[in-house]
Amino acid sequence: MDAVAKPIPLPDYHMHTHLCRHAEGEPSSYRTAAAIQGIPEICFTDHCPYPDGYDPSHRMEFALFHYYRQMITELQDNGSPSVLFGIEADYYGGCEDFLGNWLPAQHFDFVLGSVHYIGNWGFDNPDQQKSWDSIDVKSAWEEYFRLIGILADTRLFDAVGHLDLPKKFGHRPKDRYLKEMAQPVLDKIAEAGMGIELNTSGLRKPVGEIYPSPLLLSLACEREIPICFGSDAHTPEEIGAGFDQALKLAHEIGYTDCFIIKQRKKQSQNLP
Ligand code: ZN
Ligand code: FE
Ligand code: FE
Ligand code: ZN
Repeated sequence: MDAVAKPIPLPDYHMHTHLCRHAEGEPSSYRTAAAIQGIPEICFTDHCPYPDGYDPSHRMEFALFHYYRQMITELQDNGSPSVLFGIEADYYGGCEDFLGNWLPAQHFDFVLGSVHYIGNWGFDNPDQQKSWDSIDVKSAWEEYFRLIGILADTRLFDAVGHLDLPKKFGHRPKDRYLKEMAQPVLDKIAEAGMGIELNTSGLRKPVGEIYPSPLLLSLACEREIPICFGSDAHTPEEIGAGFDQALKLAHEIGYTDCFIIKQRKKQSQNLP
């Protein structure tokens, strides 16, 4: 027998395309990679374009969105595994009017809500990592969770992406502070009927840990917040990466189910 890992039959609900300018590979190559790994379904969630010019260097031009839809639709026409049409939409103050009108009109299968900025600071951007040395870490996390709370209250999103993204470079508050600030936000996520993703990209980053941490995931589990799995692949090779560890973590925390989604309606499914 060779050393190929056993397939993990979990959908991968977080991946990007070259349209965002920092991912590579054809969407068809992402699906081929998923098929080889026994992944039953994938969802493209490229970075949402904004007509106001928000964070232009990490997303497709608004005028190219039709091409994104076309690429995904062509894949959906034939082949397996099945392909869902999703988006990773950033929440930031002022996005509500646009997203409130635009998201429903696109008929996405899945809208993942993320926060990548605190004010003008792209706190997870390696080019802006130095700012972590001169700020108060606890206050940054408080502000981050405040934004996630508002994200949940907008009811615009199906799940929160990489729930504890500020840990990416290893900066974290003490567990008791983290708990204090996260609990009311997890309450809001639960009230909104939203899910969270087990995002394995953290394993490939300096922090070396899945988003969210076991502590946050256990607080989510207490609230019966449903989970899905996402590699946040920016290359086809990253599809399904770390899913064995994510599945193990979900089991350890006490999850027995994950959600699958289509046309923004979630359904529960037993974990393998
Ligand atoms: Zn990206
Ligand atoms: Fe993200
Ligand atoms: Fe992403
Ligand atoms: Zn992401």
